[in-house]
Amino acid sequence: MVLTLVALLAVVSMRRTGECPSCPSERVTTKGSIPMAHEITVYGLTYPYQLPQLAYPLNGLEPYIDTRTMEIHLTKHHQGYIDKLNKALEMHPSYQDRTLEWLLMHVDTLPQQIRQVVQDNGGGHFNHLLFWDSMRPAKEAQSLPQGQLAQAIDNSFGSFDAFKKRLEVSAFSHVGSGWTWLCMDSDGKLAVISTLNHDTPLVQGWYPLAVVDIWEHAYYLAYQNRRSEFIFAWWNLVDWGRVAERYERAAQVMQSTRVA
Ligand code: MN
Repeated sequence: MVLTLVALLAVVSMRRTGECPSCPSERVTTKGSIPMAHEITVYGLTYPYQLPQLAYPLNGLEPYIDTRTMEIHLTKHHQGYIDKLNKALEMHPSYQDRTLEWLLMHVDTLPQQIRQVVQDNGGGHFNHLLFWDSMRPAKEAQSLPQGQLAQAIDNSFGSFDAFKKRLEVSAFSHVGSGWTWLCMDSDGKLAVISTLNHDTPLVQGWYPLAVVDIWEHAYYLAYQNRRSEFIFAWWNLVDWGRVAERYERAAQVMQSTRVA
C-alpha cells in the first residue's frame, strides 16, 4: 500500500523523459517531496564537509573544460556551497552525523531556518561531487559503456546514441540553472532527467549515476551562451567505467528495495 502510494506520487510529481518523448523539458522539484521507500547512499559523507581531492589536475579536462573555469568552479562555487552548508549545520549538531544524502532526502523534516540552506548548498555539494566524479581526462576516460551498463542503456533508451540524444534534449531545453542526470529509478530502469537549481533525484528515491552541471558558471567563460557546445564537449570526458561502478551499486540498492 505504502509502495503503491509512493509510486503514484512519483508519477504525479515528475514526468520522466522516457515516458514523454515530446515533452520539451523534464524537471524534478523537491517541492512536496514524497515519502521515502528506502534510503540511498552514494558517498555517505558527513559534517564537516570539504572539497574532494579530484582524480585529475585542474588542467586535466582541457580542452573541453578549460583550467580557469575549473579553478573558479571548484575553489569558488563548489567551496562556497560547502562553506554555507557547514555554517548551517554548525549550529545544529544533531544533524552533523547524518549523511549528506540523508539530509537531502529528508530536507522537509529539517528545522525551518536551515531547510532551504541545506537544500541549496547540500545539493550544491552533492551534485558537484558527482559531476567531478563522472569525468576523467579524455585520454583516460572509458569512452563507451560496456557490459551490464551498456545493456541497461540499450534496454532503457533503445541505443547509446538514443540515450545521448535524450540527455542533450533535456539539457538544452532546461530553463534556468540546473543539472541533467542519468539515474536509476525505483524499478531499476535508467532515466534521464533535469533538475532545477541544486535539486537532486535522491528525493524521488532515484539513484544518480552521472550528471552534467548546466549552470552557466560551468561553461560561460569558454562557451558563453552555447550550452549545447559544452554538452557536446562533455561527452568526451564522461568515464563510463566510473558510471558502471555506480550502476552496479545502484542495481544492488534498488533490487534489495524491491525484494523488501
Ligand atoms: Mn557548478
